[in-house]
Amino acid sequence: MTLIIAVANQKGGVGKTTTTVNLATSLCALNKKVLIIDMDPQGNASTCLGISQDKRLNSIYNVLIGKIDINESILKTNIPNMFVSPSNLQLASAQGELLSFKHKEYILKDRIMNMMYKYNNLINIHNNKQDINQNYIKYDYIFIDCLPAINILTVNAMVAANYILIPLQCEFLALEGLAYFINTIKKIQSTLNRKLEICGIVITMHDKRNQFSNDIIDEIRKELGDLVYDTIIPRNIKLSEASSHGKPGVIYDMYCAGSLMYMMLAKEFLSKIKVNDFK
Ligand code: ADP
Ligand code: MG
Repeated sequence: MTLIIAVANQKGGVGKTTTTVNLATSLCALNKKVLIIDMDPQGNASTCLGISQDKRLNSIYNVLIGKIDINESILKTNIPNMFVSPSNLQLASAQGELLSFKHKEYILKDRIMNMMYKYNNLINIHNNKQDINQNYIKYDYIFIDCLPAINILTVNAMVAANYILIPLQCEFLALEGLAYFINTIKKIQSTLNRKLEICGIVITMHDKRNQFSNDIIDEIRKELGDLVYDTIIPRNIKLSEASSHGKPGVIYDMYCAGSLMYMMLAKEFLSKIKVNDFK
């Protein structure tokens, strides 16, 4: 089964994109096939995966408005096992355009389901995975990198997803706004997507030499308990440097402290998902 994870938090600059690309790349290294859907008009995830602007013409925007099939938008990246449906600034206009669509909250889900349906049909026809056209790939995980807002694009991501992963920056007032976001998730759970679950909160950009930063972690854990991952992502300049080279941190410098923690996070993510699957 393909699991779909929306990486979301209405706050900007908390590490959503960095977490999406580094966690996804770490999973690719563990031999999982991963698709990242870039649902932010800023296209940062596409940039971190080395996709130049001229390669983003078949973007997720065209998929959402129904101009192309999602498979036509998907690009193979330089990272083994990693694929991306890229975005560019055009996606900003989708926020208005989608409002006039019928079942506007279900558009992304529909596009993804269509792709999976076609894949399953092909397996049935050929009865042999080897025969399947290279364009059809069975992904283990689909990560959706969300933009920092609660709007129709984020709602589409949350409706399409099985899980939400929330990066939380380790800073003063970290919890501010989170209660509102979790409330929004609850609303989606009770209306548009009953199966949606939070698969964890990841603390990012932690500075362990700063006692204040450690106090914040205690506060977050007290408030959110088991939802918080044991793995904590440190503040590490290599992770931000990596994006200017069009690479995820775990590829740019796989031995830096930030990369090592993202690889640990991938293992914890897999064990958390497994526990959830058996529930
Ligand atoms: P979001 O997607 O939530 O807006 P980003 O992942 O783009 O957040 O991160 C915001 C900025 O912080 C980026 O410049 C990114 O390179 C940097 N950054 C993210 N995580 C870390 C980290 N652990 N250490 C240092 N810089 C980080
Ligand atoms: Mg981002």
